[in-house]
Amino acid sequence: RELPGDPRTDTIPREVLHACYTKVSPSAEVDNPKLVAWSESVAELLDLDPKEFERPDFPLIFSGASPLVGGMPYAQCYGGHQFGMWAGQLGDGRAITLGELLNSRHERWELQLKGAGKTPYSRFADGLAVLRSSIREFLCSEAMNSLGIPTTRALCLVTTGKYVTRDMFYDGNPKEEPGAIVCRVAQSFLRFGSFQIHASRGKEDIDIVKALAGYTIRHHFPNIEKINKGESLSFKMGGEGSSVVDLTANKYAAWAVEVAERTAYLVASWQGVGFTHGVLNTDNMSVLGLSIDYGPFGFLDAFDPSYTPNTTDLPGRRYCFANQPDIGLWNIAQFSATLSAAKLISDEEANYAMERYGTKFMDEYQSIMTRKLGLPKYNKQLISKLLNNMADDKVDYTNFFRLLSNVKADPSISKDELLVPLKPVLLDMGKERKEAWISWVQTYIEELVASGIPDDQRKVAMNSINPKFILRNYLCQSAIDAAEQGDYEEVKRLLKVMERPYDEQPGMEKYARLPPAWAYRPGVCMLSCSS
Ligand code: AMP
Ligand code: MG
Ligand code: MG
Repeated sequence: RELPGDPRTDTIPREVLHACYTKVSPSAEVDNPKLVAWSESVAELLDLDPKEFERPDFPLIFSGASPLVGGMPYAQCYGGHQFGMWAGQLGDGRAITLGELLNSRHERWELQLKGAGKTPYSRFADGLAVLRSSIREFLCSEAMNSLGIPTTRALCLVTTGKYVTRDMFYDGNPKEEPGAIVCRVAQSFLRFGSFQIHASRGKEDIDIVKALAGYTIRHHFPNIEKINKGESLSFKMGGEGSSVVDLTANKYAAWAVEVAERTAYLVASWQGVGFTHGVLNTDNMSVLGLSIDYGPFGFLDAFDPSYTPNTTDLPGRRYCFANQPDIGLWNIAQFSATLSAAKLISDEEANYAMERYGTKFMDEYQSIMTRKLGLPKYNKQLISKLLNNMADDKVDYTNFFRLLSNVKADPSISKDELLVPLKPVLLDMGKERKEAWISWVQTYIEELVASGIPDDQRKVAMNSINPKFILRNYLCQSAIDAAEQGDYEEVKRLLKVMERPYDEQPGMEKYARLPPAWAYRPGVCMLSCSS
């Protein structure tokens, strides 16, 4: 029988019962590991002096080859629903937590190496990560944070100096790729699946759900912890027209609602910037409402509701862009069912959490889309007409909204001039389509005039929600191609540009360009679950 904290560090794949984690140390082989890039803002979070990154032993520590002094490495046990089916135990198959760090602001941050070698949860795989997917995770963690969207962070990226074999290639041939390790940072990496796994194991492990939920609330949801101590009576209650559940009576119910609302907020934020996660399995859903596990993700270029960056998800498209809101709800349903199976919440409370997901999602989504248009109030018809037009004409999602702030609230603009501000994104269009856009812009201008908001003021507001720079797949790919040749400058440049996505950044226009023709060539930007 496995005991929590069993000191054995063997990595034989196995079912780990009655435990939330296994002590295991990094074991990836390294040969002269090199620091590729690091994030200044994450270093600040951790009170790390920039000089630390110059230490000759830095790449050794952050590839796991040298132990982190004071660390307590372990891998977490979790399960999950993959593509709608219960998959049993999954766990940190290639992620190893080094330990937690308490910063000067008394915040607790967990440091985790991804790609540092096998754990008991590695199943059939090697526990390693390649440079390609590590660059994507490193850059997207930081890009997402700069967009203002909750996410796990990335401190640094190192190459291991060793090669890793990957065989899921377009041409069907295995390929040797440089190995790499990202150091991820979050207050917690707990997932929906961290709770599901114990509930799934029945009687013997059901108490672990309660213990883990208690731990999570105590450490990460202090406001909810207070409720049951009677310290706060101002906790928000159900809104108008909803079945009101008293959230002050049961902290687990209050927590379920909080997780549901954070998830709704997260998914609405993704829809706002055109982010498609790619693998929204319940093991990739953070209980803190963070974007987590960047694999085959993608930002929309041309607007396409069915956009599915993950080739493993074709032709089903379960996790396509437009399905994300429903999938969020499906995942919340699994999560609340777990808490009710563990008798922590009632069925009524579980239903209430789902209801609140729906309400929160709609509120947030409507608010985001309204702000993207620079309008004072939600206009359903105008938005759905716009999205239909964008899909019909494959209009670039990011650049369209950025350019939209140049439209003037001037009803006297002649029909011929109406589309001028949007010209760079409304490409070769037939007469009929042009008319459709003219009609939309006319209605939009009427709304702008009615709003009374001055043009310059609206432009500033719109540019603070419509990014100029997003981490397009082809940009990632360029940085990857250079890095695989040993040149890390493009990774660093992309990081810098993506740290200020809402700023104009003169001289950096090329990073806001539409994908070039090479990006559409078969196999070039193909992404799958296994990397
Ligand atoms: P993902 O789809 O990336 O969230 O991964 C699903 C599961 O597969 C998780 O348990 C991962 O830890 C595991 N996994 C993915 N890639 C590897 C790998 N190269 N080695 C070991 N485990 C892996
Ligand atoms: Mg995962
Ligand atoms: Mg992954």
